[in-house]
Amino acid sequence: MMYIDKTIEHRQANEINVQFIYDSNTNGWPIDDKKKTFQNFNKPKYRSQWHLLLAKEQKSRCCYCMKRLNLSNVSIEHVVPRSFSSLRNSYEFADYVRDAPVIHDNVMLADEYNRLLTAGTLFISSERRMPHIVGLTNLLLACPEPVKNNGEEGLDWLGCNCNNERGKKYLLPIMLTPKAEIDIKYGLDGSFYFSNGIEYPESRPGVQFLLYHLNSDSLKEVRFIWYKLSTTSLLSSSYLETATLKERIQFFKEAFQTNNFEEIDDRYKKYAAIGTGSQLYWNKLLAFDWFFDRYKTQ
Ligand SMILES: [Zn+2]
Repeated sequence: MMYIDKTIEHRQANEINVQFIYDSNTNGWPIDDKKKTFQNFNKPKYRSQWHLLLAKEQKSRCCYCMKRLNLSNVSIEHVVPRSFSSLRNSYEFADYVRDAPVIHDNVMLADEYNRLLTAGTLFISSERRMPHIVGLTNLLLACPEPVKNNGEEGLDWLGCNCNNERGKKYLLPIMLTPKAEIDIKYGLDGSFYFSNGIEYPESRPGVQFLLYHLNSDSLKEVRFIWYKLSTTSLLSSSYLETATLKERIQFFKEAFQTNNFEEIDDRYKKYAAIGTGSQLYWNKLLAFDWFFDRYKTQ
């Protein structure tokens, strides 16, 4: 996980949001209809702009597991859930505002925004806060929902299922705060944890959810391999993209400190995808190359 700085692209984000709100007003689109409003905002005219903007903010990585994202197939995470209203959820909204000052600065509940709209549209261009349904500060890109065959996740799947599993549960918005860079840690065994146990006890809403889902066996496994690779003479993860099979074997041998590639545990060896005829695991590994630098510098 990394700090996603929503202030750098804020001006452009606001321009997209403002354009959408003016258009909604002109077209008579009901901005108080949560589902319809997001559907309209998800039309190619707007989406083509804001998907790119979010990808830039997140360096094209999932906001949870740091997998490289393919923009043609992503999930959109609403930090403050789309269904929230000021009547039912003002206390929960206050938690988000407290935990992520950038939500306080840039986001308001949509029905509060609608109340302002009833008095006229003059305020739109000067209001910094945007309705939570479409406000780009409140939106994040995440892994898409895995495709399942007979209830089983497909073999080609490796990522997180956080967006899908979360529903309306509290999402600790730590990725929207600079604290993410120091308080989130990755163990040498590939585990994900918070360094500050006092501030982030497991009982805290949102904490358990992240600990559970980001410590799945497959995510831990792939992070462990990146830890191992970070201890080798490999200078940059991007070198692996073009590495020959011989070089792959060499780096794995070095990472697992053995002269015999065959001695490496199958759980890890399979990611080198040597002699399998399929590059599936190799490509899975490369999709998480963010962890090379993370382990190098942590
Ligand atoms: Zn993910």
